[in-house]
Amino acid sequence: MSKEDLECSFCGRKKVETSLLIAGLDAHICDRCIEQAHGIVVEEALHSGNTELTNDLMLKKPKLIKAFLDEYVIGQEFTKKVMSVAVYNHYKRLLQPKSDDDIEIQKSNIIIVGQTGTGKTLIAKTIARMLNVPLAIVDATVLTEAGYVGEDVESILTRLLQAADYNLEKAENGIVFIDEIDKIARKSDNPSITRDVSGEGVQQALLKLLEGTTVNVPPKGGRKHPDQKFIEVNTENILFIAGGAFDGIERHISKRLNMQAVGFTASVKENEMEKDNMLRYIIPKDLKDFGLIPEIIGRLPVLTYMNPLDKETLRAILTEPKNAIIKQYKKLFEMDEIDFVVTEEALDFIVEQAIEYKLGARGLRSLCEAVLTDAMYEMPGSDEKIVHVTKEYAEDKLNKSTLKKLKAVS
Ligand code: ADP
Repeated sequence: MSKEDLECSFCGRKKVETSLLIAGLDAHICDRCIEQAHGIVVEEALHSGNTELTNDLMLKKPKLIKAFLDEYVIGQEFTKKVMSVAVYNHYKRLLQPKSDDDIEIQKSNIIIVGQTGTGKTLIAKTIARMLNVPLAIVDATVLTEAGYVGEDVESILTRLLQAADYNLEKAENGIVFIDEIDKIARKSDNPSITRDVSGEGVQQALLKLLEGTTVNVPPKGGRKHPDQKFIEVNTENILFIAGGAFDGIERHISKRLNMQAVGFTASVKENEMEKDNMLRYIIPKDLKDFGLIPEIIGRLPVLTYMNPLDKETLRAILTEPKNAIIKQYKKLFEMDEIDFVVTEEALDFIVEQAIEYKLGARGLRSLCEAVLTDAMYEMPGSDEKIVHVTKEYAEDKLNKSTLKKLKAVS
């Protein structure tokens, strides 16, 4: 048989029709069939929950991670880029073979500073979804030093075990998102005044978890089940992402920047900075000035920030993400064979209301709910097959809703 006559044993394509034909013992396989087979293997690995295999196969390059985030998270370009690299490095670290060159890749735990409702949790969730690893979202405000009322720091790992359906291997490769990390900042510069059980003490307790240690975790959590058997969880490969609003940290940043600007045209600089999102100038020292202890900051080496959501971003959040709110309503109506049409002006109106009510992105959902509840109640089963939401329609429904009261209060 001449070289030209060779064909793929799977799809039958001739060598000339392929970009690559690989020879085996008695068979050949073309590039397209290899790709297809790879897809099947990944799919299988995902279904079987074999995280080791999944990680191996799914080790996505940073640009691909960012592209995945782009599908769900609008804007926040800087953070998406930084997170993509950090996550990539984290999983590369897990996959590195034990070498004897003494170069140990350290953990790339992340801290995100940004106002509430700007997408911090969403980014963590999206990354966990992409990697198909369990995610525990915990609130730092409920944590206290061991022995005090509140939850011990180990409860974080209980949550992760639960998210992993008690599959220890999966949990040990999971992600923990610690929200409101700023709330455990030291309250004053003098730690000796009173005992600070929910502040520095918790930071100290978190240190070991962040760095990597083995912890005895009560699988059911809490102190209500005193005789449960502990599960040993190693946190070495768990990726920690901390988030917080750090209200008022701008003051520390601008103070620092102004000090640096002494001797220059400081006043001009100040004006420029005002217009900017100050958070973009954040450095670890600002976190320290805010009250995080240096050891914690050191164990969250990747520092990034979120931009406040402006009108354009809010507008895009309504319609653009893969599971955008408007797409969800469209689907809901479709299930009743109802056409859902909403005008541009109506969408702009909803965004304006979200800004006016100071509800941010979270408010978009409640506003849509208020506008559409009547339609969702009345239309199914009726003869009408189209919902047409205009600005006037939206305005009318909102005026009648309880959300209106919110405005009166604020
Ligand atoms: P945070 O953790 O910063 O307080 P969340 O991630 O919980 O905020 O965001 C709240 C909701 O707002 C999310 O569920 C999401 O629907 C929406 N949202 C916020 N920011 C964005 C964004 N940048 N892109 C898309 N949706 C967003």
